[in-house]
Amino acid sequence: MPVAVEQARSHLESLGLTSSAAVLDQRLDQAAHRQLSYAEFLADLLAVEVAARRERYFKARTRLAHFPFHKTLEEFDFAFQPSIDERRVRELAQLAFVREAANVLLLGPPGVGKTHLAVALGLKAIEAGYGVYFVRAHDLVEDLRRAMAEHKLDRRLRVYLAPRVLIIDEFGVWPYDRLASTALFTLVSARYERGSIILTSNKGFAEWGEVLGDNVIATAVLDRLLHHSHVLNIRGESYRLREERQAGLVGARVVMGGDNPQP
Ligand code: ADP
Ligand code: MG
Repeated sequence: MPVAVEQARSHLESLGLTSSAAVLDQRLDQAAHRQLSYAEFLADLLAVEVAARRERYFKARTRLAHFPFHKTLEEFDFAFQPSIDERRVRELAQLAFVREAANVLLLGPPGVGKTHLAVALGLKAIEAGYGVYFVRAHDLVEDLRRAMAEHKLDRRLRVYLAPRVLIIDEFGVWPYDRLASTALFTLVSARYERGSIILTSNKGFAEWGEVLGDNVIATAVLDRLLHHSHVLNIRGESYRLREERQAGLVGARVVMGGDNPQP
């Protein structure tokens, strides 16, 4: 091994460029084989480091986002859910809504892919370098309620104000009490025109008064959420139920040999 290669590797390592250090020999061989110029070789080696760093950065941001699962737009089967305008979702994935601090509301019954789409848009935002935080509405509201009772709301709100995209999942599954609703209003007001909210809910807007226990608060929250917003109303069958049904059918065939009627 020539001394210069060892020195180069050692320099790369002490600079923390470990990905380049790991592929140095291979890239040197390739450069010789392809008769690359010095500049081409250097660009090639540094590209390895840049790609590795981008990947690490993406993983760290993704961990910080606290997604419940990792689902992408590419994994979403638009054919299964025709009530979703694929073009609109692809446009949202261009993230103009994030740059404009607009909100996205994904509404519809359970299992139609609301959380999947919210996470997929979140992942796109992370790829583009934005901070994203995912929280279930119930956990968010409990957290804010506790902070409010302890007079620490301002400090706690920072967690939910810092990310450019805040995903609030499953809004309205349970009704919220007055303290919770007020805390939620404070959050939505503070993010208004400053950062995007992606909210998923199985409740229509008409039911928000009931969910928040107060029509005035509900109107005030909706007013801010909807002012700059993209609302996707998803109707259709639950993907979860379809998967379970399919699993059931397959299981039944295996057990019963395929000829028996399904239960
Ligand atoms: P919701 O939040 O509307 O209740 P989810 O987004 O959690 O539904 O979807 C339930 C499961 O079904 C998830 O695993 C999700 O990835 C999957 N899913 C839902 N709709 C689709 C779809 N159109 N294509 C692919 N997977 C889907
Ligand atoms: Mg969901």
